[in-house]
Amino acid sequence: MNLTRPDISSSTQSGGARYETLSGLLEAYRTPVAIILFGVIVSLSLFFATLLGHSRAKEREFRNHAAARIAEIQTGFTAIEAELTELAHAAGAGLAPQTVIGIFGVADGEVATPPVRDLGLVSRDAALHAIDAGTARQVQRAVAYMLERGPAPQTPVLLPLPAAAPGEVPFVLIAPLPAGPYAYAYVTSDFDALVQPTELRSDPAWVISSLYDGSPQFALARNANLRARTTPAMMGVISVLDTAPYALHWSGEAPFDVVDIAIVPRRSYLLQFGPLPWLVLAFCLFATAAIGALALKDARRTAEIRRQVDLKTAELRRSQAVIEAKNEELARFAAHASHDLQAPLRAMKGMSSLLVERQIDLDDRSQQMLQRINRGADRAQRLVQDLLSYTKADMAQVNAETIPPETLRSEIDELLAATVEECGGRLRWQIDAPVEADRFLLTRALQNLISNAIKYRADRPLRIDVSTRTDADGSTICVSDNGMGIEPKHFERIFRVFERLHGADEIEGSGIGLALCKRVADLHGGRIWVESEPGVGSHFFLHIPSVQAPRAAISNDR
Ligand code: ADP
Repeated sequence: MNLTRPDISSSTQSGGARYETLSGLLEAYRTPVAIILFGVIVSLSLFFATLLGHSRAKEREFRNHAAARIAEIQTGFTAIEAELTELAHAAGAGLAPQTVIGIFGVADGEVATPPVRDLGLVSRDAALHAIDAGTARQVQRAVAYMLERGPAPQTPVLLPLPAAAPGEVPFVLIAPLPAGPYAYAYVTSDFDALVQPTELRSDPAWVISSLYDGSPQFALARNANLRARTTPAMMGVISVLDTAPYALHWSGEAPFDVVDIAIVPRRSYLLQFGPLPWLVLAFCLFATAAIGALALKDARRTAEIRRQVDLKTAELRRSQAVIEAKNEELARFAAHASHDLQAPLRAMKGMSSLLVERQIDLDDRSQQMLQRINRGADRAQRLVQDLLSYTKADMAQVNAETIPPETLRSEIDELLAATVEECGGRLRWQIDAPVEADRFLLTRALQNLISNAIKYRADRPLRIDVSTRTDADGSTICVSDNGMGIEPKHFERIFRVFERLHGADEIEGSGIGLALCKRVADLHGGRIWVESEPGVGSHFFLHIPSVQAPRAAISNDR
């Protein structure tokens, strides 16, 4: 009887190619998808972090720069304003402008004042006094132009002069004189030098435009590429730098005693940054792509393996169902056959026994034949009974319980102690710990082992020892005898059904007893083995693990 059942309880539940659906696909490829998403997020985060760090540093740099420039401009303009005031006072006090210029000339040498290039008094009609008469005339024209455009300014104002050279616009700072109408003190100074320290001359960051109520708009620009911009909505905005990464908004009123600065990052500035953020982004994306590709390859392989496993599992399930159905059928057949065979056998035996008992007048040969029939029927009956036991054991389900040593012993003693005594043997028990097993099955197995020890005894007083060894792994029960022993080459095969080492005429038996013991071991998830020496005796070991993994049986019919 082939009752092997493949154990596939640990295989996956799914069947077929489930990853062929969208959700299956997503599940199969979730690792690479997650890796790629994570990589992209990390790349972008690093990119923006680098960008932000860079722009913060730039912004700080600009702020410091701007603050330093403002301080320089303010110092410069304050000094120039002082000169203008002095000049206006001198004119008001009737001092000759030359004297005042002379005073300034002396002061220039002693005090650190801005480099005065030209200084004088000017009215609408004529320059009163100037170091340079040419410059004075230019100033006069500029003043006239300003006055034509609107009312006279009450505060100092910057005015552009006709350009001396392309890209350069000289400026004049003028202040109204209280002494006469339309009379102004003026100073033309090196404003470029004032607003642009030497080391920063190439920096295009400086544009100053002055706005005066009603007057034309004037601009002081070092670099012709710069564009000064003012809008009606931005009245008071002194300058806006359009070419730098940041827009610089200067605001204030001439003569710039209060100047505010605002730095606004330009949108396109991000693209003007150095290559570092882009390098970081490219590197991260490349790494993501590489790792993603590897993960994808791996996932594809895993998906294929899973698909194969699923197919095999489905196949195995089908085979298992077929095997189970066959086993069930076989077991039923064996049970029925052995059961149905018993009746005719009993009848045969009964009849032959009756004939022998009644001592009907039969010749010797017929008598012998009758006895042989009787013995044959006996043997057939035993065989059928053994088969029936095996079938029942095979169909049994393990109901493990704790069997105390004395229970085990009394159950066996009840069945076999008398037989052992009859043949002058001795049965010793050395079981001191309870055994976790199915009581019915274990009793049957021990009964078979002890019966065999009796059956295959040698020509000496029989000694049978039943002992147990219990440890963390479970219990091992050992049945030892001093019988005829077994050759090592038969150690394996004696546990197979119908395998016998003795002929039926020699020692009676069906070859089922040890197969049944093996089945009991299997059902408990344990094992059985023998150690023996011919002529000395045998030790049969039955190991029952503590954590049993019993194999499912077909029915519980005992
Ligand atoms: P049976 O006893 O009905 O022949 P078993 O399956 O119980 O069937 O045993 C198979 C064979 O193993 C026996 O025929 C016998 O030769 C051998 N055997 C079993 N137990 C012993 C033993 N205690 N000593 C020697 N031989 C044994």
